Amino acid sequence: MPIVLVSALRPPGRRAFNAAHELGHHVFGHGAQFDELVEERSTLRRNDPDEYVANCFAGELLMPKAAVSRAFAVRKLTAGSCCPEAVYVIATYFGVGFGTLVNHMCISLGLINRTRAEELLRNQPLDLRGRILGAECRNNLVVADTNWVGRAIDLEVGDLVCAPPDVLFEGRCTEIVERNSARVVLRAVTTGIGRLAAGPWASFVRVSRKDYAGRAVYRFEEEVSDGE
Ligand SMILES: [Zn+2]
Repeated sequence: MPIVLVSALRPPGRRAFNAAHELGHHVFGHGAQFDELVEERSTLRRNDPDEYVANCFAGELLMPKAAVSRAFAVRKLTAGSCCPEAVYVIATYFGVGFGTLVNHMCISLGLINRTRAEELLRNQPLDLRGRILGAECRNNLVVADTNWVGRAIDLEVGDLVCAPPDVLFEGRCTEIVERNSARVVLRAVTTGIGRLAAGPWASFVRVSRKDYAGRAVYRFEEEVSDGE
């Protein structure tokens, strides 16, 4: 059975990209690959045509051009001029890292030019999260607005999610840490599946354990005690 192994110690966006990259190797029949054992791919590997194909596959799978363009359009944003925080918000929607989205929009999609990409990449994700939240945030921060459609909001225990101000939460996997007229901030506290709803908008929230080890398909299952 083909298996993709991804380190639980990498940031969630990097894990998603690595998994998609390895799936690309499988789809194109490249045989067994061991990219994940080295963090920075060597220059040799980067120039390997199989690596190029797997990276293109991952980018197109996770961030298709129509979906990226739409994500900016529905938020009335222009990729070439919006604030970096808005690009961060969209990266969280696609479940990829900020830098990964910026590079993909520049190199593969041609939605922004190199100067704009470099300008955006001067912003570190930690600083962007701090500016969005108004406080330092060392965990992952997902920003879910009412344009978040088509996929669940996936978190790990400890992650934060910014949601619309009038949101209601159903379930036990998150708790509210801040609520004001502009937003609600929730923290993922235990594994499981819940739901955020605000007016006609709703989204499932799925929380997995931090540093979960096991088959990804099971990562949101609530932990059950053995009874004794
Ligand atoms: Zn590879």
